[in-house]
Amino acid sequence: MHYFNFKGNDLYCEDTPLRSLVEKWGTPLYLYSHRTLCRHFEVFDSAFESYSHLVCFSVKANSNLALLKIFITQGGGADVVSGGELFRVLKAGIDPKKVVYSGVGKTEEEIGFALEAGILMFNIESSEELKVINQQAKELDTKAPISIRVNPDIDPKTHPYISTGLKKNKFGIDLPRSLEEYRFARSLKHIEIIGVDCHIGSQITETGPFVEALRKVITLISELRQEGIAIQYLDLGGGLGITYAEEVPPHPNEYARAILSEIQGQALTLILEPGRVIVGNAGVLVTKVLYTKSTQEKNFVIVDAGMNDLIRPSLYNAYQEIVPIAKKTEERYTADIVGPICESGDFLARDRLLTKVQKGDFLAIMSAGAYGFAMSSNYNSRPRPAEVLVSGNDSFLIRQRESFEDLIRGETIPDFLSYSSTSRAR
Ligand SMILES: *Cc1c(COP(=O)(O)O)cnc(C)c1O
Repeated sequence: MHYFNFKGNDLYCEDTPLRSLVEKWGTPLYLYSHRTLCRHFEVFDSAFESYSHLVCFSVKANSNLALLKIFITQGGGADVVSGGELFRVLKAGIDPKKVVYSGVGKTEEEIGFALEAGILMFNIESSEELKVINQQAKELDTKAPISIRVNPDIDPKTHPYISTGLKKNKFGIDLPRSLEEYRFARSLKHIEIIGVDCHIGSQITETGPFVEALRKVITLISELRQEGIAIQYLDLGGGLGITYAEEVPPHPNEYARAILSEIQGQALTLILEPGRVIVGNAGVLVTKVLYTKSTQEKNFVIVDAGMNDLIRPSLYNAYQEIVPIAKKTEERYTADIVGPICESGDFLARDRLLTKVQKGDFLAIMSAGAYGFAMSSNYNSRPRPAEVLVSGNDSFLIRQRESFEDLIRGETIPDFLSYSSTSRAR
């Protein structure tokens, strides 16, 4: 459920027509609905209200400070995967005791930063990482709270690039080896074991894989308890899918019911790391039609947003719904909607049945709130879009459109390159 709806012929975000937002802020433009963001967080959080839990928003899905602030204000924690993300959530005012830190490649500096901040826990992805964290904690004369991220070898039935809980994936420690790893962790003086973690993938549209993974993790937790290793936290990761096209993912209530029925009576605090399900359908990318053209093969709609602004179609062959922000005609045709980037892989949609559009029209690329701006780049030296938060009739700039100057920030031309090439040749 989201607050992007047509009223008459015009697409609105909450009470504001996209037409006026485009006039005010230009394109390409990322727009987020405040009401939708709050609602999604609230629905997800309250689905688990009968059980001790913490919803740690997965910052990598959308790391804008204003969005982070919204979830923090609603009592949320954060799942971070880099020092940069930790920096962001601290800037947004999070209680560090609500931060969990995942990722296979944490550096010593990042680990030190997180220890000094005093985060809730590290989700450990390898034996070597465990040793480095122990060493860093020793140097800071503290203990590092940890969970081990186990790889349950579950097929989440999603795109191969976003499945993370299969044996062949780089994430976590294989379940059969994890008991041994916990014993090793227990032997380390500066490690405090507090939980078990698992995250099997993203855009998962059924409860089965979550339950399967959960059962394996619960078995591990009882084995650990038998060995006197007390587990307080069970981190189930994120991954609940959303509707991009025809998918019918479980409602958060159904997802919560499936999980809670497996852990009733267990003295645990559940940690959840939703990303996409909170922000995905709360954001759109608005783009302008620059040109249209037809070749013998195809119709093309060339827009001012490219794969550098929204890479999901190019990277995952992902479907994003695309609608004109003003309905002018019923006439439809099939076209490729492509960006300005010099790559054939730069498309937002292929062979899409679309309302006929012309130069100067605007299109909304729906469901772009997650892994949209967060995965954007400056490829082809294109300044990244502005981000705007809409609340009712109001809109607020939450990230400036980048300028040409932003593109070269930090670059320098070494002096020796300024000598003329002829003088150097001599
Ligand atoms: C990406 C990721 C998430 C969030 O996944 P969604 O599919 O966006 O919910 C949660 N936890 C970890 C460790 C992740 O890498």
